[in-house]
Amino acid sequence: MTVLAYGTPAADHPLERMEIARREPGPHDVQIRIVYCGICHSDLHQARSEWAGTLYPCVPGHEIVGRVAAVGSHVRSHEPGDLVGVGCIVDSCQDCPDCAEGLENYCDGMVGTYNGPTQDPPGHTLGGYSQSIVVHERYVLKITHPEDQLAAVAPLLCAGITTYSPLRHWGAGPGRKVGVVGIGGLGHMGVKLAHAMGAHVVAFTTSPEKVADARALGADEVVVSRNPEEMADHAQSFDFILNTVAAPHDLDAFLALLKRDGTMTLVGGPATPHPSPNVFNLIMKRRSLAGSMIGGIPETQEMLNFCAEHGIVADIEMIRADEIETAYERMLKADVKYRFVMDIATMAG
Ligand code: NAP
Ligand code: ZN
Repeated sequence: MTVLAYGTPAADHPLERMEIARREPGPHDVQIRIVYCGICHSDLHQARSEWAGTLYPCVPGHEIVGRVAAVGSHVRSHEPGDLVGVGCIVDSCQDCPDCAEGLENYCDGMVGTYNGPTQDPPGHTLGGYSQSIVVHERYVLKITHPEDQLAAVAPLLCAGITTYSPLRHWGAGPGRKVGVVGIGGLGHMGVKLAHAMGAHVVAFTTSPEKVADARALGADEVVVSRNPEEMADHAQSFDFILNTVAAPHDLDAFLALLKRDGTMTLVGGPATPHPSPNVFNLIMKRRSLAGSMIGGIPETQEMLNFCAEHGIVADIEMIRADEIETAYERMLKADVKYRFVMDIATMAG
């Protein structure tokens, strides 16, 4: 089947409308008519090959929501008409210890929703800036939010799980002081989720105009991280800091805010490395600096259910498909509150 998509033929080329092929659903496949797709900063990094290794044409998009159009003969978990989501993973080896634990995100054979290996043309996966996608049932999530929230659910499929998973892993419940650094697509979800989990949440932003918003998102306190006095007020006080910043910056400024045995986890993937932190900031207080990548499929479903129960969705700004380049430029200026979502219906004309 041929469908419309937005993608780019080269790293230095703007995204444009193109036609792509989708496979016919196999016995375990779900064919999804995409309704909305969130715009992640990873889409921009990869469309422009900032992490190197992008295969072209590149059709980004891994915050996919839509309706099941058809299912393969063996599919029991989804039915035509269901509201479903697809995040960053469309396949994995299904045979390793990580897959057995539902941590497909750490499987060496994980196939990303775009730029991953596949038999389908053109030999690498093409993502959600497109009218439809065909995905193995294991990687298709159920959406139980009310249908009128569908667009605002899309960002949960990456921004939601990428913040939910480390908040759960390192602990963000009552009695814990948790920092969230960078109030963008990921960070604004991190604040909402940590607040719903019961932590004392401190948002760190470089954008003074986001201070009031961050409180409304659920932050108990907000720090403008470029202000050293405000930072010093929080020295050695955090159990956990989730750092979502998409650009290189001084990690020591945040490591110094951790308690003894505290952890800062990086989820941002800047195009060039952070300046190396001072090891004594780790050694002196037995602190940890860690990383985390999205989350597995069972935890993604758990996160979607948690969000539905707590009435959590992303704060979004809807764009037309042909506004994608403007959206990328605004994202680079941290000028989005707080996630762009593409209305796929606008792709046709
Ligand atoms: P985003 O919406 O652009 O948000 C990033 C935020 O970082 C900005 O809103 C800004 O927040 C802050 N920031 C930007 N430039 C900065 C600078 N030079 N110094 C300090 N702060 C700066 O991006 P996103 O979609 O949330 O993604 C964030 C990063 O996570 C990206 O690198 C993305 O590729 C990565 N990511 C990783 C995973 C994973 O699995 N680990 C998953 C998804 C995305 P303030 O205005 O509040 O300062
Ligand atoms: Zn993403």
